Amino acid sequence: MKSLVLISGKGGTGKTSITGALSVLFKNITVADCDVDAPDLHILLKPKIEEKEIFRGGKLAVIDNDKCCGCGRCRQVCSFGAVEKNFTVDRFLCQGCGVCYWNCPENAVTMLRKESGESYISRIKNGRMVHALLEPGEENSGKLVTEVKKKAEAVAVGSGSGIILIDGPPGIGCPVIASLSGVDFALVVCEPTKSGIHDMKRVIDTAAYFGVPVKVLINKYDLNPENRKKIIKYLETEKIELLAKIPFSDKFNRALKQGKTIIEYDSGCDESMQIKNAVYKIKNVLDI
Ligand code: SF4
Ligand code: SF4
Repeated sequence: MKSLVLISGKGGTGKTSITGALSVLFKNITVADCDVDAPDLHILLKPKIEEKEIFRGGKLAVIDNDKCCGCGRCRQVCSFGAVEKNFTVDRFLCQGCGVCYWNCPENAVTMLRKESGESYISRIKNGRMVHALLEPGEENSGKLVTEVKKKAEAVAVGSGSGIILIDGPPGIGCPVIASLSGVDFALVVCEPTKSGIHDMKRVIDTAAYFGVPVKVLINKYDLNPENRKKIIKYLETEKIELLAKIPFSDKFNRALKQGKTIIEYDSGCDESMQIKNAVYKIKNVLDI
């Protein structure tokens, strides 16, 4: 089984539209949407949920009022102001550090895993999709990303799928690092803007640090010829393969409005042909 993650280092590069378009060109694929803070791949792939599971992320202090003597020690030691005057805990302020638990003289505090979201296994037209949603304000998305990836691996094995395509989270933090682990290569989707170049370099450095090979796809490549040249020169210097150059186009938005990938919207346009060419190269690289 082979796996590939699409990352961008920043939002707004069209990574999810590209992931959706790539995904429809594989047979019996497993897609993992690891952008768990703001997932939107489901708009394009229209997954039909088959299994749902509660995700329990960080810990939450819970005070047993029957045991609590009202000494106030927990309020004094909590650095996050999470213990209310009536000795209940605000679930959004509690960081799960356990300091109140260790300081309570009456053993009235219990640390529980709190429900932070849900993960799903779903059917899509050409395979399966594993996706998730964090509750608003919840963290631990790195842990949820790892859970989504593990489930995707199990689903891929169970369904005989030869490839896992991962829509990675934005940024270069813990969720991205979790999405990079164990993949065959990372495809960095970048755009020829100043911030796009900066973020592309940061995310390539992150992947390199963890020993993950990288290839690049430039989206909206004709947006700024000067910046495009800078990207190409950088890739040549770093010996990083440029997999595709997709022109700036509002076809992606028009397709999205219809809930379609660009391939389904217009399979013969330049944008679609570039994506088909990228899939051809990906299959060659992964030997599938
Ligand atoms: S430290 Fe324990 S006993 Fe004291 S107020 Fe807090 S929960 Fe109640
Ligand atoms: S676990 Fe930590 S953050 Fe939560 S209430 Fe206790 S001391 Fe405060």
